[in-house]
Amino acid sequence: MIAQVIINTNAKELNKTFEYNVPIEMQPKIKIGSRVLVSFGRSKSLEEGFVIGFVENSKYKLKDIEKIEEKDFIDEEYIELAKWMAKRYFCNISECIKLMLPPGTKTKTVDNRVKEKTAKFVSLKVEEDKVKEEIEQNLIKSDKHIRLLNFLLENGETNITELEMFADVSKAVIKTVEKNGYIEIKDKQIERNPFIHKVMPDRTTNLKFTEEQQKAYNAIETAIDDKMNSEFLIFGVTGSGKTEIYLQAIQKVLNEGKSSIMLVPEISLTPQMVDRFISRFGVNKIAVLHSKLSVGERFDSWNKIKSGEAKIVIGARSAMFAPVQNLGLIIIDEEHDSSYKSEMTPRYDVRVVARKIAKNKNIPLVLGSATPDMVTYFKATKGEIELLELTKRANNSKLPNVEIVDLREELANGNRSMLSVKLYSEIEKNLKEHHQTILFLNRRGYSTFIMCRNCGYTVKCKHCNITMTYHLKENKLKCHYCGYEEKPVKVCPVCKSENIRYFGTGTQKLEAEINKLFPNASTIRMDVDTVTKKNSHEQILNKFKNDGIDILIGTQMVVKGHHFPNVTLVGVIAADSSLNIDDYMASERTFQILTQVEGRAGRESLDGKVIVQTYNPDNFAIECAKKQDYKAFYNTEIALRKQLKYPPFCDIIIIGISGEKEQEVIKLSEKLHSYFKQRIITEKIGILLYKPLPAPIDKIKNNYRWRMIIKCLYNKQINDLINDGLEQIYNSNKSQDVRVVVSINPSSMM
Ligand code: ADP
Ligand code: ZN
Ligand code: ZN
Repeated sequence: MIAQVIINTNAKELNKTFEYNVPIEMQPKIKIGSRVLVSFGRSKSLEEGFVIGFVENSKYKLKDIEKIEEKDFIDEEYIELAKWMAKRYFCNISECIKLMLPPGTKTKTVDNRVKEKTAKFVSLKVEEDKVKEEIEQNLIKSDKHIRLLNFLLENGETNITELEMFADVSKAVIKTVEKNGYIEIKDKQIERNPFIHKVMPDRTTNLKFTEEQQKAYNAIETAIDDKMNSEFLIFGVTGSGKTEIYLQAIQKVLNEGKSSIMLVPEISLTPQMVDRFISRFGVNKIAVLHSKLSVGERFDSWNKIKSGEAKIVIGARSAMFAPVQNLGLIIIDEEHDSSYKSEMTPRYDVRVVARKIAKNKNIPLVLGSATPDMVTYFKATKGEIELLELTKRANNSKLPNVEIVDLREELANGNRSMLSVKLYSEIEKNLKEHHQTILFLNRRGYSTFIMCRNCGYTVKCKHCNITMTYHLKENKLKCHYCGYEEKPVKVCPVCKSENIRYFGTGTQKLEAEINKLFPNASTIRMDVDTVTKKNSHEQILNKFKNDGIDILIGTQMVVKGHHFPNVTLVGVIAADSSLNIDDYMASERTFQILTQVEGRAGRESLDGKVIVQTYNPDNFAIECAKKQDYKAFYNTEIALRKQLKYPPFCDIIIIGISGEKEQEVIKLSEKLHSYFKQRIITEKIGILLYKPLPAPIDKIKNNYRWRMIIKCLYNKQINDLINDGLEQIYNSNKSQDVRVVVSINPSSMM
C-alpha cells in the first residue's frame, strides 16, 4: 500500500505529492485525509503531511510513513476542496488543509494536541453527618477549616480555585485539611464552555411570518425539500425579519436531523445574535467559532460539532470549514461584509467556497443583506441567484429620519468643532429625554497625524512608510499597520521648527470633546483600543445597554447588527472618511456603512434620527444612503462599474511582490511581467496587464511592496496562466527572499 502525501509547508516548490510506503500495522487505520509524520529530504526531524490518495505501485524505492495521528483526519470531500482552493487561490494544498484541522493542532507532532482540560476538584472524604458532628462538638478548632468544611457541606464538590475564592481559604489551608483526612483532591475533566458566563435567555418560539417573510421562507423550504442546490439572496433592510427566516429555515433542517452553518461577520458575532439562537434552539445544539474564543474553547466547540452534538454552527469566516455532520443548509448573514474575504493566505472568498460546498452537497445557500455586494446583486438581476425581497420592517418600526449636514457651511460659519450645530443640539435634546445616542467615527486614536506647519513634514512609521496616529492617553504615535510606537516629536526633525500641529480626529479625541461639551453625560468608547481582552466587546455593549450609558462612541464596530431599543439618535461625524480612499469599492463601502449606521436608530417603538456630517453632501452614495435607497445606489454604481471596467464586469487581480531587498523585488516583478506578456501575445489572451509599480503603501514592516495589476474576466485560462507564471518563478527563486501573493478583487487595494 502506497500513500500520496502532501508535505505541510509553505515552500511553493513542494506543493506536490510524495509517495510513501504504508507499514502493515498502519494499513487498517490510514485513510485519505489522515495526518502523518514522514522523513523528508535531508531534514533530521520528521515532517508533517496529509494523505491525499493511494496508488498501487511506484517506480521509486520508498520510505515508510513513521507515525499516524488516529484521531485527526479530514473527510475526503474536504481534501478535494483543499485541492480546488489551492488552485483557485494560488497557494499550497497544505495551507488550505490547515483551515480544516482542529484548533490548536500543533505541527510536526502527532500526539501533542490541545488536550481535554482538567481541573482539581475538592470533595468531602468523610461522611457529612460525621463532619457536622465534629464541628458542633468543637473538635475542629480552626475557623478557616470550619469555613471550608461548611462550604463543602453546602455546595458539594467544588473546583479548587472557586473554593479558594468563595470559601475564602488559601491553598495551604486546603492542603492541611486534606492531610487531616477530611477532604480529597481529584483531577476531573471539564468542558471549556464559551457560554459559561452567559445568562441564559428565555426560550422563544417561531414568530408568525409576515406575508413577505412567508414568501421568502417558502422558496427556501422548497429547495430544502427538493434537495436543490439553489442560491438565495434575502435582500431586506435591517429589521425586516431576515434573522427570523434564518431561524425557521434552520429549524426545518434540524427537524430532518441535519445541521446548518451560519456565518456572521466576525465583529458582529454579537452576543445578541447568538442569544437569539440559544433562546430558540437551546444551548446544547449550538457551537460558536470565532477568533475571540480561547484555543481550548474552539477545540471543544470543534469536538462538539464533530461528534454531531452541535447541529448549528455560528461563526466567522473560518467556521465554513468546521467538521459539520450531515450539512443541510448554509447561511451567510451580512454577505457584503469585507471580513468574508481572507486577507491572509489562502486568500479565499468564503462565499465562493460556500457555493462550492453547497454544490458538492446539493444543499441550498442563503445570503442575506440590507446592502448586498454589487456583484451579488448583479447576479440576482441576472437570475443566477434567486432574489427574495423584504421591503418592510417586521415589527413595523419606521426607518429613521436622516439629515445631512454640510460641514463646509459649518466651517464658513466659523464652527471648527467636530460637532455641527445641528448634531450638538440633537445630542442635547436626546440627553434631556434620557434616550441613548451613538456617535460613529471611522478612525481610532486621537489625532490622525501630526505635521510640521513650517515645512509640511509628517511623522511616518519607519517600517511601513505610512503616517502614524497620535494616541493621547499614552502620549504616543502608533503605526496602525505594524504596531510600532514612538514619542511624538516636539521639534521638526527636518527644519527644526517647533510649529508642530495635530490634525484630524479619532475616536479618542471625539470622546474627550464630548466629555467637555456634555460634562454630565456618561460615555463609553468601543474601538480596537478598548476592545482588547476577551469578551470586552460584549461587556461594552452590555454596559451601554444595561447601565443606561448616554453616548456610545465608536468605529466600524458599533455599526453592525446590534439592537438597542433606546437608541434614538445616531451621529456620523465624518461620512467622507471612507470615500476619499483610492479604491473602486469606496462608494460601495460608504453606502454600506452609512446604511448600517442608520439602521441602529429607532429600532423599536421610538422614532430614530440620524445626522450625517459630510464635506460631500452631493455625493450619490451619501444621498442614496440618506434615502436608504439601495436600488438607486446600485443603478448609479453599476453604470460606473461598467464604464470603468470594474467588478462584476471585469475582475481585478493584484499580484503583490514583496521582500526586504527592493532590487530583488523589482527584478522578480519584471521577470513575472515579461513571462505573462509573452504568453498573452503568443496565446492571444484577452486581458489587460499593467506594468509592475510600487504599491500605494510601498513599505510595510520593512518589506518593500510592488505590485502588478491584471484586469480581465477571471476564468480557467487566466487561472492557469497565473499558476504557470508562479511555478516558473518558484523554480527559479528558491531562496524565498521575495514573496508573491495573488488576490482577486481584494477588499483593500492598498
Ligand atoms: P433582520 O435580521 O432583517 O435585521 P430581525 O429578524 O432581527 O430582522 O427582525 C427585527 C425585529 O422584528 C426583531 O425584534 C424580531 O423579533 C421582529 N420580528 C421579525 N419577524 C417578525 C414577525 N414575523 N412578527 C413580529 N415580529 C417580528
Ligand atoms: Zn519642518
Ligand atoms: Zn509600521
